[in-house]
Amino acid sequence: MNPQEAWNTTYSQLEIQLDRASFDTWLRGAVFLGLAGDEQDDLAPTFIIGVPNSYARDMLQHRMYRDIRRILSEITGAQVELCFEIHKAVSGSIEAPELPLFKLLSQQPDTQPEQPVYHQQIIRPQRPELPESELNPRFTFDRFVAGSANRMTLEAALAVAEHPASLYNPFLIYGGVGLGKTHLLQAIAHSCRERNMRVIYIPSEVFTNDLVDAIRQRSTAMFREKYRSADVLLVDDIQFIAGKDSTQEEFFHTFNALYTFNKQVVLASDRHPSQLTTLEDRLRSRFGGGLVMDLQPPEYETRLAILNNWAQERGIQLQASVAEMIAERSKTNIRDLEGVFNQVVATTQFARRPVTLDLAENVLDGYSRPRHHQLTMARVLEATAKHFKVSMADLIGPRRTARLTQARQIAMYLAREVTMASLPQIGEAFGGRSHSTVLHSCNKMTDDLEHDDLLRADVKAIQAALGNLD
Ligand code: ADP
Ligand code: MG
Repeated sequence: MNPQEAWNTTYSQLEIQLDRASFDTWLRGAVFLGLAGDEQDDLAPTFIIGVPNSYARDMLQHRMYRDIRRILSEITGAQVELCFEIHKAVSGSIEAPELPLFKLLSQQPDTQPEQPVYHQQIIRPQRPELPESELNPRFTFDRFVAGSANRMTLEAALAVAEHPASLYNPFLIYGGVGLGKTHLLQAIAHSCRERNMRVIYIPSEVFTNDLVDAIRQRSTAMFREKYRSADVLLVDDIQFIAGKDSTQEEFFHTFNALYTFNKQVVLASDRHPSQLTTLEDRLRSRFGGGLVMDLQPPEYETRLAILNNWAQERGIQLQASVAEMIAERSKTNIRDLEGVFNQVVATTQFARRPVTLDLAENVLDGYSRPRHHQLTMARVLEATAKHFKVSMADLIGPRRTARLTQARQIAMYLAREVTMASLPQIGEAFGGRSHSTVLHSCNKMTDDLEHDDLLRADVKAIQAALGNLD
């Protein structure tokens, strides 16, 4: 097979393996330009691939390199390297499309200057840039409804956003599931980002995952540089670093470095730092050294106001009696309220009927199924990770080996099938992926399950394991 054919085959493989948005954004139209490397020396041949713009080049070179190289090496039967360069013939048609992944890149403030590419020189891949999680555009301050259960915390968050590193540092928000911690953290992130500060928002599992990767690739210096260059570092669900020694160690140093240089740190946790029993004392005292605020379940009026906001945003006529009934019955948290609301809207749109009280009540009854039928995301993730013998961090993280991609797609599919979680909630559980990624995975699974016996066996085995957990 000649190199051109090898690239064509790799290209088709990637089209199948990657999700559509990634492929369209980074790879569509990538062309084989030639081979580099001296035949005389024993360095691996380097495939020069032309891509339309520097975003695609950086993404491919830094984040997707290993997977592409693996496929190309398998196809050619030899160890090969790749080098991506900007190729004008490809550009124009797909320059900077408005796809979700571009939002991610445009959030990275330091675009590097174009560097010349030397064909005769093998360019070794650099350490990938660490992924930042995309911010949810809906999680802004103006979409956060204030009520007596959250007003003080909201005000503190506004103050931190306005005067980072000068009032409350660190600022820690704690509270139960679905009460708005992530929303507030991201609202601070949006607000600071708008003022051109360097903001990193990251769920702690992703921080851990990056650290593990960095240690494995001996690139902890770059890891540190990245996190320590933030003006505002927001770490979500910090409870997950409790019990993880190396992450705590690293986080402690990151925290100190930022604090010393007068940078803001914002944290969210599902409980008060004093209750994080496996958290090291030195971290606990750092966390408690700033301002610690909690979020409580919203009272009826807030729930009603939130519902009406959602309806208005989506142009849905919600009768007062229906809104009141939903607000009355979804007491525990706002995520559940959102689930009920989405379900009511989806059901009525599907049935092409107006939202009546009866219909909304039916939906709500479906929600109050007996507890043992309510499987949680965590159990689906756990069972899938176990079945595929991969770590939880990898399952929800950014790595993209064929096995992980498959495990992830199955987990998303099962989450959709057997839990109450909405698409955005599932996306969030998978390290902040978008709901369209989740939907794409679910649809792909549904198609594949029709004809793939092995896949069906995997899914059945995990379902059985979930059943046994009940
Ligand atoms: P947590 O991180 O505490 O588990 P989230 O921040 O993810 O919760 O909130 C769950 C959902 O509820 C999100 O869709 C969020 O936008 C919404 N939400 C939470 N609190 C409020 C609020 N006060 N006003 C409007 N929406 C809210
Ligand atoms: Mg959260």
